[in-house]
Amino acid sequence: MDSSQIALLKTFTHYFLHLVFPVFIALIFYRENWKKVYLILLATMLVDLDHLFATPIFDPNRGSIGFHFLHSYYAIAVYFLMLFFKGNIRIIGIGLLFHMLTDFQDFYCWSH
Ligand SMILES: [Zn+2]
Repeated sequence: MDSSQIALLKTFTHYFLHLVFPVFIALIFYRENWKKVYLILLATMLVDLDHLFATPIFDPNRGSIGFHFLHSYYAIAVYFLMLFFKGNIRIIGIGLLFHMLTDFQDFYCWSH
C-alpha cells in the first residue's frame, strides 16, 4: 500500500469505529433498546468539543489523548468509574472509553 491508501484506510477505520462499531455494542449489550443506546454512544463524540479550546483546533501531528482536558488521563479515569453505575451513566462511560480507544489507535497505530 502506498501512503495515500494508508491514509484512506486510516480515515475509514476512524469513522467505522466512531459510527458503525457502536451499533454492534448497542446490539450485543442492549438489544431491547439498541437505537436509544446507539444515539447515546454517538452523542459521546461531543467530548471532542474540548478541541475548540486548543490552538490549532486540529493538528494531525498531535494526539488527543492526554492533551485535551476531556481526553486527559484524569477524565479517562472518571469514564472508567462510570462503568460501575447503572443505566445511562454506564452507557455514556462505555461510549467515552471507546472514543478514547478510537482516538488512541488513530494516533499511535498508524505510521505518520
Ligand atoms: Zn476525541
